[in-house]
Amino acid sequence: MTVSFLHELRDGLLSLLFPPRCAVCGTLQEAVYCDACREGMVRIGEPWCAQCGLPFDPLAHAPEHCEECRSDPPHFDAARAAGRYGGSLRLAIHAFKYAGVRALAAPLAALIADAAPPPIPIDCLTPVPLHPAREAMRGYNQSRLLAEELGAQWCLPVEELLRRTRNIPPQQQLPREERRRNVHGAFAAGDGIAGRAIGLVDDVYTTGSTLRECSRLLKAAGASRVVAITIARTVGETQ
Ligand SMILES: [Zn+2]
Ligand SMILES: [Zn+2]
Repeated sequence: MTVSFLHELRDGLLSLLFPPRCAVCGTLQEAVYCDACREGMVRIGEPWCAQCGLPFDPLAHAPEHCEECRSDPPHFDAARAAGRYGGSLRLAIHAFKYAGVRALAAPLAALIADAAPPPIPIDCLTPVPLHPAREAMRGYNQSRLLAEELGAQWCLPVEELLRRTRNIPPQQQLPREERRRNVHGAFAAGDGIAGRAIGLVDDVYTTGSTLRECSRLLKAAGASRVVAITIARTVGETQ
């Protein structure tokens, strides 16, 4: 018996024991997620804030920039997300981030490539880093997996231009001001940033605190442009 035969036998037994299911709802099927879950992902489109990508009510008279970008402009030149954080997209991101479903990196990157290409040309992609302790626990950095898939689709190099200098507790429940205070000084910029247009990749744009802080560092290190790229962003009361 050859090694490849043994591998095939093992894979065959595994798929008998654990037939492929939708990573979001568990329906038996071959793709990473099913059509119903794909359709439940709400895309974001224009009209939106030219800078942070916050979607505006299409029926109201939309300004160019949202209130926050006018009163407290971020350092990134633009932020784009493929969809709203909610429903099956939220479940897919949770499976990708917390349940070890790495196979979601490719379809989630395809969702971004489809719905939210950078509005200005970029030279390379860099992921928002995880603290090494958290990355060791999770086994991977979901933002790096996403950046690698996007890099392959957009033919862009992926470079680790930022590192985490401090671990911070999960931020999900914290108000915006507290998040901003927490992320301040939690990252540091490396070399190779000056003069380049950089796509900064993360999973979710929530209050934008992390993306604002990373963009601030990239710009301070000489980046010519920064575009924040995420799978989803919160809109409305969860922001
Ligand atoms: Zn499903
Ligand atoms: Zn804005």
